[in-house]
Amino acid sequence: MSEVVHKLVIRNIAQILSGKLEQPLIDGNCIVAVDGRISAIGEGKDLDTGGATTTIDANGTWISPGLIDSHVHPVIGDFTPRQQQLNWIDSCLHGGVTTMISAGEVHAPGRPKDIVGLKAMAIASQRWYENFRPSGVKVHAGAPVLEEGMEEQDFRDMADAGVKLLGEVGLGSVKAGETAARMVGWARKYGIQSTIHTGGPSIPGSGLIDKDIVLEADADIIGHINGGHSALPDDQITCLCESCSRGIEIVHNGNERAGLLAMRTAFEIKQTERVILGTDAPAGSGVQPLGILRMIAMLSSLGDIPAEVVFCFATGNTARMRNLDTGIIEIGKPADLILLDQAQHAPGKDMLESIRQGNLPGVGMTLIDGVVRSQRSRNTPPATRLPVIC
Ligand SMILES: [Zn+2]
Repeated sequence: MSEVVHKLVIRNIAQILSGKLEQPLIDGNCIVAVDGRISAIGEGKDLDTGGATTTIDANGTWISPGLIDSHVHPVIGDFTPRQQQLNWIDSCLHGGVTTMISAGEVHAPGRPKDIVGLKAMAIASQRWYENFRPSGVKVHAGAPVLEEGMEEQDFRDMADAGVKLLGEVGLGSVKAGETAARMVGWARKYGIQSTIHTGGPSIPGSGLIDKDIVLEADADIIGHINGGHSALPDDQITCLCESCSRGIEIVHNGNERAGLLAMRTAFEIKQTERVILGTDAPAGSGVQPLGILRMIAMLSSLGDIPAEVVFCFATGNTARMRNLDTGIIEIGKPADLILLDQAQHAPGKDMLESIRQGNLPGVGMTLIDGVVRSQRSRNTPPATRLPVIC
């Protein structure tokens, strides 16, 4: 019998956003987590809430799985050379993001493009984010950018060393569908997940990746299907949604109208489980600490989709498409949670209606692995009600 090290009880929750499309809202006003993992969900009076080491009074706020940003470009620690900013990941935590996935550490000054160098950087990046979580945020990084000349053995070497992701295919010298497909296949064989840049060039040195290249490369995720920045023509976006079963990633740093088109197409073909959200930050358009919340409000309001459904695109969907052990509120899952409420003086009868009208919610608290990481957000509009640590 091991002793309970840490028992978290969150009570007086208004309602629970599950992160699961099949049932986005679940009943219950209390969540218990033991040693960082959810152990009970339901009505507080029915649950064993005794012996808590941390008790949080949600004070009538809503709870959601921590948001997942499916597309970021970190370099090292909590610093980005892209816009010379410190603590951008901490700022995103204040926007409700508890997990980030690297689409390549492409902004590293002097990024090596020779094969031994890019492998070394991928392994080092994977290590330094595994060993150091900025403000507790789970940053999955170490995502090499494919260059011409890589062989199957290179993918095996990286997988053996702990690399689990590829950076956006197309940001390096590999731009032809056939070469990309071969390398993506090797990556998949060794358990490395892949994503592809979709759309026009992002920065000087990158190129156009159109629907034919995306379909031929067959990466796991159609990275920023709405462009980063420039989107493909509408018919190519709908074709991508209809012609494959890969992740439909919509980003803040892309074309919003094209993002709405991709989401609507996913609804039309009844494949909303493929829709995931990212920011693509840091980028030329900067860092977007509220980017995922802004995507949720934009897609819910302009797309006229219930907010609780859009929350699933930024939580459970991403976790499932990316094989992450987080993103849903379910017994056994890590207690990566955010407490939110309707922003002060925002219209709407409750938080979900307010978001559906295009307003951001206020973040009142974030927790990662059951540990409080931030309280009242310094970045969102102030929430009407705030949770308190008892
Ligand atoms: Zn890109």
